[in-house]
Amino acid sequence: MVTRAASRPAELRRHNLSLLLTQIHTHGVLSRVELGQMSGLNRSTVGGLVSELCLLGLVSENVPMGSERVGRPSHLVGPRPDGPYAVAVEVDADHVISAAVRLGGEVAARIDHNLAASAIDPDTVADLIARDLAPLAAAMPPGAWPIGVGVSIPGTVRRTDGTIDQAPNLNWRDEPFASRLAVRLEDQLPVHLGNDADLGALAEQLRGAARSSGNLLYLSGKIGVGGGLVVDGRQLAGSGGFAGEIGHMVLDPAGPPCHCGSAGCLESFVGDAALLRFAGRTGTPGRASLATLMADARDGDQPALDGIRTAARWLGLGIANVVNLLNPEIVIAGGSFADILELARPEIEQELDRHAMTAARSMVELRVPDLGSDSSLLGAAELSFQALLQDPVAASSARQVAG
Ligand SMILES: [Zn+2]
Repeated sequence: MVTRAASRPAELRRHNLSLLLTQIHTHGVLSRVELGQMSGLNRSTVGGLVSELCLLGLVSENVPMGSERVGRPSHLVGPRPDGPYAVAVEVDADHVISAAVRLGGEVAARIDHNLAASAIDPDTVADLIARDLAPLAAAMPPGAWPIGVGVSIPGTVRRTDGTIDQAPNLNWRDEPFASRLAVRLEDQLPVHLGNDADLGALAEQLRGAARSSGNLLYLSGKIGVGGGLVVDGRQLAGSGGFAGEIGHMVLDPAGPPCHCGSAGCLESFVGDAALLRFAGRTGTPGRASLATLMADARDGDQPALDGIRTAARWLGLGIANVVNLLNPEIVIAGGSFADILELARPEIEQELDRHAMTAARSMVELRVPDLGSDSSLLGAAELSFQALLQDPVAASSARQVAG
């Protein structure tokens, strides 16, 4: 009985610390009054919990200066600049980005590596990420501390052990990348992997273009094409974590061969290589060639525009299939699809009108990401923040032990 009585207030306190820290992480700087309104906790409880979060080194608070209003101004509480940060990594077929992301989702430092496709092997990428930790730490204020490494992968990630089942455009199969990277980091930091489009959906739902939506599709258009789905408020994972591979939805079995081994997949009509092909270009698919293509289209280059419009019609057809299947409220066009949506929205909408069922079609809205090209990177950071947000005390104590 004694243990039970002692533990219950402690459990409640941990729950409430988690609640407040999650609100600050999601919304940024908040006043104590706002924290009280959002959490339903009274003024003195909020004050005590904020003090504890300050002592843990997670948040700081200040009283706004220059307030002429009558009465006591409410203290403002926000993430500490020298507090915890997540190391977020985006791995793709032609680049690796490492970043330090603060509580609140601010990218505080980043390192961007352009890589030749031949250099994207698991050992090289793991070494690169391990080497980036020191310069990222050096770019942060003294005292800031990393809480984990989250990695966005353009492929299917096995939920049980973080093994990459298949990343067609990296040529990785059955790759135990989470453990490979953990060895490089000498197990000093927890490592989490996620599918790039799933992470894009996560970040855009948390603080981007799909806030408060429980039914969304995030589309990632790059060399490979991915889909992240939230259905009825839950991320759709499937029995092994492999759901959402919209890029490999077959639109024409007689179509071009796809990296996945099939043919005529959506990716073979709307991926970077297809965009260049439709525009009559021969360059290497990737960030640089796509940026040039989009810039030329904006300048009125007709073959570039025609190519983008052709891809837009295929994209609309692919989205129509998902609209019929899952009735999403918001479809976010990420990566090169944001440019396609801007330059050829009518072509996409027309295919939706033609192929999606009327009721579901009327409910869906196409949007560009609020987080620009950082959706997947910020989603990767969320993988690392989860443990800290769930139990701020335990995660901060772990840091003291490690330090
Ligand atoms: Zn495919």
